[in-house]
Amino acid sequence: MKALRVLVVGAGVGGISIARGLLRDGYDVTVFERRPDMRPGGGAVTIWPSGSMVLEQLGVDMDGAGQLLSTVRIATSTGRPLVNIAVDTIVDRLGGPVRMVPRRVLLDRLLEGFPAERIRCNSAVAAVLDTPAGVRVEFEDGSCAEGDLLIGADGLHSAVRRTVGGEPAKPTGWCSWQGLCTLEHIPESKVAVQIIGEHGNLGLWPAGGSDLQWWFDLRWSPDFVRPEHPIEAIRSSFAGWSELVDHVLATLTDDDLAASPFPHFRHPIPRLPRLSAMTLLGDAAHAMPPALAQGANQALLDTMVLREALSGLRQGRDCGNGELASALRWYEKTRRRRLTVLSWVTSRQISQSQSVLKWVALISDSFGTWTMTAFLRWLSHRRISVSKVDSPLVGAITAAVQSSAVKIMV
Ligand SMILES: Cc1cc2nc3c(=O)[nH]c(=O)nc-3n(C[C@H](O)[C@H](O)[C@H](O)COP(=O)(O)OP(=O)(O)OC[C@H]3O[C@@H](n4cnc5c(N)ncnc54)[C@H](O)[C@@H]3O)c2cc1C
Repeated sequence: MKALRVLVVGAGVGGISIARGLLRDGYDVTVFERRPDMRPGGGAVTIWPSGSMVLEQLGVDMDGAGQLLSTVRIATSTGRPLVNIAVDTIVDRLGGPVRMVPRRVLLDRLLEGFPAERIRCNSAVAAVLDTPAGVRVEFEDGSCAEGDLLIGADGLHSAVRRTVGGEPAKPTGWCSWQGLCTLEHIPESKVAVQIIGEHGNLGLWPAGGSDLQWWFDLRWSPDFVRPEHPIEAIRSSFAGWSELVDHVLATLTDDDLAASPFPHFRHPIPRLPRLSAMTLLGDAAHAMPPALAQGANQALLDTMVLREALSGLRQGRDCGNGELASALRWYEKTRRRRLTVLSWVTSRQISQSQSVLKWVALISDSFGTWTMTAFLRWLSHRRISVSKVDSPLVGAITAAVQSSAVKIMV
């Protein structure tokens, strides 16, 4: 019996996670990435307990990666404390660590033990289509590949999403100037700081060792004109918000801001045709503003739910297209409700005047922590569990699958 041939588009956190999971489950997986190599860029991402749980299910060793957090401290730009979220309590209640980890470190860990020959770099996807025999991917260089199932994990401006008719991502009117800097001394290495002002907000989250993830959120519109010296614009908006902020602003230069700004986008999960053998995962499925630091986490949860959806299939290509398509539609439906709520919450206006924020200061730390815990628990699909243990049968199928290759046609 031949294993289902799964084509994954995009080798980001989402693409490598699902590829890793489905290889473990015995599928014949190939990942297509447009970049020439697997040296990822970017700052740090936050992994909440549910994301940590999925990484554990995927057999990813996260020991020592990034920085474990104990508290998220939220204050106003005038120094008024608003609320301290007790991350330790969230960890106790939800049973998994919360860590800030540089994106490159997370991808390195995901790639440990991952068969390199399963990733085809320099493979920019131009179009995808359902065929009577399964799915077909067409690349920008004119070549194509065929498989039984296609997963579009090609990020925010997904080509797969576009060709299956998904609405383009819409800007929310905000953007982040962001990156990682190195500080000789981070005063409280387990404390993430978030500061809210009237015209913008910022975050300083330790990301392991001397790495600190910084971001400055300001308004943005499509006719935005980049200032000649963006660091001056950032300093004039955020200087004086705290000692640590001033210290970070003093170390940053225009070069550190070269890749920014990153406009915030959101789009809903599209409804794919009932019998399509394609689906979307991660930012390609549900881009959202970074307000609750959920991007990588939600891609990991997609992985868990999609694996669960596919686990009900009879193994092998004879499972039937209807059966496969039903599993994909169940995955999308299961994720849609939670993601719709999360996307709505993350696109609420964070920046507020002091007169509004003084009411927020009345929220007790315990209530803030309880609310965050309850929300994260609700997001986490706790009833869905994927076996954490590799069975010898899965190992044998995986080895067999790794010796076969997806059919590439030029
Ligand atoms: C360079 C980069 C830096 C980032 N930095 C941060 C950060 O600092 N903080 C943060 O919270 N989040 C960051 N993110 C976003 C974060 O990684 C995602 O929100 C989250 O991990 C979900 O990942 P994803 O796999 O869905 O998408 P992504 O991580 O965006 O991965 C998508 C992958 O698809 C590939 N791809 C795109 N189009 C095609 C195509 N047509 N054909 C083939 N391959 C294609 C891309 O090259 C990329 O490798 C960054 C993303 C990227 C790509």
